[in-house]
Amino acid sequence: MERVKMAEDLSFSRIVHGLWRLAEWDMSAEETVSLIEQCLELGITTFDHADIYGDYTCESLFGKALELDPTLRDKMQIVTKCGIKLLSSKFPERSVKRYDTSREHIIMSAEQSLNNLKTDFIDVLLIHRPDPYMNPEEVAEAFSILKQQGKVKYFGVSNFTPSQINMLQSYLDFPLVTNQVEISAMHVDTFQDGTIEHCLENRIAPMAWSPLAGGKIFSWDHLDTAELRRVLTEVGEETGVDSVDKLMYAWLLNHPARIIPIVGSGKIERITAAAESVKIKLSREQWFKIWIASIGHDVA
Ligand code: NAP
Repeated sequence: MERVKMAEDLSFSRIVHGLWRLAEWDMSAEETVSLIEQCLELGITTFDHADIYGDYTCESLFGKALELDPTLRDKMQIVTKCGIKLLSSKFPERSVKRYDTSREHIIMSAEQSLNNLKTDFIDVLLIHRPDPYMNPEEVAEAFSILKQQGKVKYFGVSNFTPSQINMLQSYLDFPLVTNQVEISAMHVDTFQDGTIEHCLENRIAPMAWSPLAGGKIFSWDHLDTAELRRVLTEVGEETGVDSVDKLMYAWLLNHPARIIPIVGSGKIERITAAAESVKIKLSREQWFKIWIASIGHDVA
């Protein structure tokens, strides 16, 4: 599978596998090893985590698989996130869900992720959400310490606006390597609010979360989704592609911004469909048919 250069010595697979739902898949460590191996065989080498996924359990479930087969670690890139504090029975002292981008929390969270994931380093650590109480000097200090210690190689953000990225970037001596945001044919805000342009301007490849709108493209039956599905099916017939999910991925992959879809399914046939979508070529005309179905009206 083709790869996307994220930094001098870091590249991601064109499709990333997301582990948000790993706890729901109820897999043994052996089954998780097998899923990882199958992803690697497809060329999907980049795995997306967050400290909070599965009420703070998904990183550890993945770590158990890496413990079972430590040779897997060298074949992959691990992305994880920090900065959200969930209300959880694991933290009875918390009284409100909130953000924390303090130096102490970022360092503590990254170290906990290393421990959970059974790895010596994280390839990319993201700040999960923009924090209205962020002190960028503290974030920069935490990033520098983690980088110097070799615990984290690169840093990025998630759900940040262009001005929020620029602000944080101005405090750092090294470039942020990605902005992970929601992008799909059902969620096109980032094409209209400057986020994609900012990525293009700064040569940052955005990571797309919920590229199938969290599965809503298959379950929602209101008119807009029905029309989008009809157009995706029509473009599928034109291109010889047999499924709506492949077209949803292809629509992102064909865009010049090097958008990296994060596949959220644990089912290998669905992950395989995502990997196959990398080969689909859409014409500008086909890309716009899907765009128009998505925004619900013709372009001006
Ligand atoms: P998604 O791929 O848009 O949605 C996955 C959901 O769609 C699953 O419930 C899956 O069900 C269902 N699905 C997939 N293919 C299907 C099909 N052919 N028919 C019916 N249902 C289908 O992605 P996502 O899970 O929402 O997000 C992907 C990743 O993005 C996450 O794992 C996480 O790593 C990341 N993420 C990041 C943020 C952030 O703030 N940075 C937020 C959300 C997610 P099955 O499991 O049954 O296949």
